[in-house]
Amino acid sequence: MAEKIKYEDGRLIVPDNPVIPFIEGDGTGRDIWRASVRVFNAAVAKAYDGRREVEWKEVLAGEKAFNLTGDWLPDETVAVFKENLIGIKGPLTTPVGGGMRSINVALRQKLDLYACYRPIRYFTGVPSPVRKPENVKMHIFRENTEDIYAGIEFMNGTPEADKIKKFLTEEMGVKSIRFPETSSIGIKPVSEEGSERLIRQAILFAIKRKLPSVTLVHKGNIMKYTEGAFMKWGYALAEREFGDKVFTWNQHRKLSDEKGKKVADEALKSAEQAGRIIIKDVIADAFLQQILTRPAEYSVIATLNLNGDYISDALAAIVGGIGIAPGANINYETGHAIFEATHGTAPKYADQDKVNPGSVVLSGALMFEFIGWDEVAHRIYDGLEKTIQNKMVTYDFHRLMENATLLKTSEFADTIISNI
Ligand code: NAP
Repeated sequence: MAEKIKYEDGRLIVPDNPVIPFIEGDGTGRDIWRASVRVFNAAVAKAYDGRREVEWKEVLAGEKAFNLTGDWLPDETVAVFKENLIGIKGPLTTPVGGGMRSINVALRQKLDLYACYRPIRYFTGVPSPVRKPENVKMHIFRENTEDIYAGIEFMNGTPEADKIKKFLTEEMGVKSIRFPETSSIGIKPVSEEGSERLIRQAILFAIKRKLPSVTLVHKGNIMKYTEGAFMKWGYALAEREFGDKVFTWNQHRKLSDEKGKKVADEALKSAEQAGRIIIKDVIADAFLQQILTRPAEYSVIATLNLNGDYISDALAAIVGGIGIAPGANINYETGHAIFEATHGTAPKYADQDKVNPGSVVLSGALMFEFIGWDEVAHRIYDGLEKTIQNKMVTYDFHRLMENATLLKTSEFADTIISNI
């Protein structure tokens, strides 16, 4: 009988027949979900031979929900995710004009899914615009609840924007709004708690996976008290909570000031040799250059919301594009997590059985890893990689590869299943 996944004493309790809610997704989401769920069921069956099975429970969101219930994100959907902890979703149409800014953002906020985790790995055979995509092995932890994504924005000409501009110029002495008469205003909240909980999970992840470094990516040279503070709080947290498991560039800088660069460099080298995780930082624009020129220097990344958005798509492009980029939104304290396609609904291809289901397929693999069903995840990774290596691909890869076989979404899933 199907049972709920529970979260007790800081860990997930996963029954053999867990209920997992899913949102099919709009547009191409329908084709993609139909294909992906077959891959999931096949991988579970192969891994456990009937001992374990998922009971998929459909919940509504997006256009489908709106057409059936008049609501883009029904309360019941949020309640089912809350109750069952783990879920998976396809892409959703963003309602245009009024109402909700984005259903995805609303869902993340309602469940306080503060960490957006995106692994970036290269699958052999995937067409890539760079020469050595296999050097890109990164894990991005993007803060999901703060920054300009908090949605605190006021359009020029509204009383709210006028009030804020008046407050800034008359009470705060701000003189640098270049065109005050015609400026819209946006506000960027970044908190110590919000930064710490994200960076803590990035470091714990690096410890668990025995990865060499965590890099704090920020734009603190310009935004000193938001992005710069993110870095400062991150270093302080690493030193305070992780002690000799880590060595930070902040410690290196201090040592260098006190005892000279040579001593500091030696301390850094011996920390690396002792397997301590190096906590470092880099300015966001330099980072976007370095992922192209020297990606092997980076492993786990912790960054703010907007930087994370740009960085994850840039990295996804290096290893094959958004057609195969998986993602997860997680709250590590409550155990809630929603795994999702990172691309949109690609409406022009809807119901054509055409697009790449890789993003949802790999999001499912991440989900199985998260619930401890690693045997399922490995089968999915192997099945997908073998399929691409054999040049059996959907249109997006087909147009970039020579002598490849063009498959429909459903055929791509069939081939993965036969390779599992
Ligand atoms: P999009 O749906 O991601 O599509 C942009 C392009 O990306 C497509 O035209 C296609 O490129 C490629 N693509 C997307 N999914 C693909 C797949 N599975 N396989 C292969 N190629 C794929 O972006 P959009 O057109 O800007 O947005 C459409 C709707 O989706 C909007 O309502 C938007 O708000 C929403 N959206 C939702 C999410 C989400 O739910 N997570 C994320 C982003 C956008 P080619 O044309 O080159 O083939």
